[in-house]
Amino acid sequence: MSRISPVAALSALLLGGCGAEPAPSPDATSDTSAADLPDDRGAAQPRSEVPQPDASADATPELSDAGLDAPSDGPPDVPRGAPDVALDSTADATRDASPEAMAPAGTAPPGTLPGERAARDGENPVSLPRDTEVVLRVEGSGSEHLGFRLEFSPPGASVVLRVDRWDGSEARELGRTDAGAGLRVLAAFDPSGPRTFWVRLRATGAVGSARLTVTRTPFRDGARCVSDCARLLQLPLPNDPARDGYGTASNTVFRYQFGRRDLVQWVRYAGQVMARQGRAPFIPEDLSQWNGETPGVDVGAPRHASHQRGKDVDLSLYGNDGRAPWRSYCRVLAGSGGRECASGSVMNYDGLANAALFAPFFATARVTMCFLDRALIAVTRSALDQAIREGLVDGALRGLYGDGVHLQHWPNHDNHIHLRVSEAAPGAVVFEPFEAP
Ligand SMILES: [Zn+2]
Repeated sequence: MSRISPVAALSALLLGGCGAEPAPSPDATSDTSAADLPDDRGAAQPRSEVPQPDASADATPELSDAGLDAPSDGPPDVPRGAPDVALDSTADATRDASPEAMAPAGTAPPGTLPGERAARDGENPVSLPRDTEVVLRVEGSGSEHLGFRLEFSPPGASVVLRVDRWDGSEARELGRTDAGAGLRVLAAFDPSGPRTFWVRLRATGAVGSARLTVTRTPFRDGARCVSDCARLLQLPLPNDPARDGYGTASNTVFRYQFGRRDLVQWVRYAGQVMARQGRAPFIPEDLSQWNGETPGVDVGAPRHASHQRGKDVDLSLYGNDGRAPWRSYCRVLAGSGGRECASGSVMNYDGLANAALFAPFFATARVTMCFLDRALIAVTRSALDQAIREGLVDGALRGLYGDGVHLQHWPNHDNHIHLRVSEAAPGAVVFEPFEAP
């Protein structure tokens, strides 16, 4: 079919309001401008992350205290003279303790993982003997985003970075990553209070040198960001997708999940809203690279035209079956600009649930534009009255669903929505130029 010129806009953006009528698009110069993502993310992922883990798979860590080069000046290891605290005896152990001596429920007993060593904040030089797991323990406070960044050489070495969380009875894996040249990044956050996490490192080949950096950044959930909103933070691994409302997929590329603080807050907030509605977790995919660049630049193959500085995010969509994996919701036709839904071919797309998904973002008054196939926009809009009646969407947001800016057509958006937030200061009146997804 002939290329359909995507609606484009020099959107006169009065923040909090709607944009101006779309103007003709600036030339979409590269092929990637319309290819927000590769055709089928599930199929082709050249630098795939580790498949979704079976937590029991490597439950027999063989550890070496020698794994940690740095003398630890963090919290002490198990005191030599202290009795071991068996997991099933913690209740007894704490019953007799004075209240101030009791560890918070989120804090694991010392020595929970064999060989664990306390990581210090900042840089931790580590040695990674081949096929030997190195475990560093980190205590979260409940009010800090924890960023874990492993740099190593040679850059092509095979290294897995995994993060576990204490769930009250055992260390449970949150996620792992094996992709990225010389770099592994994961993040954790648990607003419920103090919480023990572990960083587990394993090299299956020779590693010359390695350094784990632990970065604590004050962080809180919520629909409003009041300061430091542009800071680039990695989307934390969900502690429980059913409660956090978002999840990861086997092809999630973690080093591409760095967003502005405000956008990270709003992805999490939307997840909490959807979880409260009893919905399945959605799947956020690319935000920006760890360095704020377009995902894929690191391997010479940008996956988007935009997605810089953490202002953009791609989210999966809800189907009528109640699930939200990354999948197409129509029969697509290949045009010169990319995939577009054939007329009348939408199937399984839940307009009501997706209207509800977009609402928390729109309610921030900081969304500048979103991209979605026009056929899916139409179904979303047709469900809007019901969504408002049922309290899933604030009636004051109605206009944003139909202004042609906050939801606008772009090829290759039959399987996800692309959301963009403002980089301007809150309250500023600015013109934000159109930028292809
Ligand atoms: Zn996108």
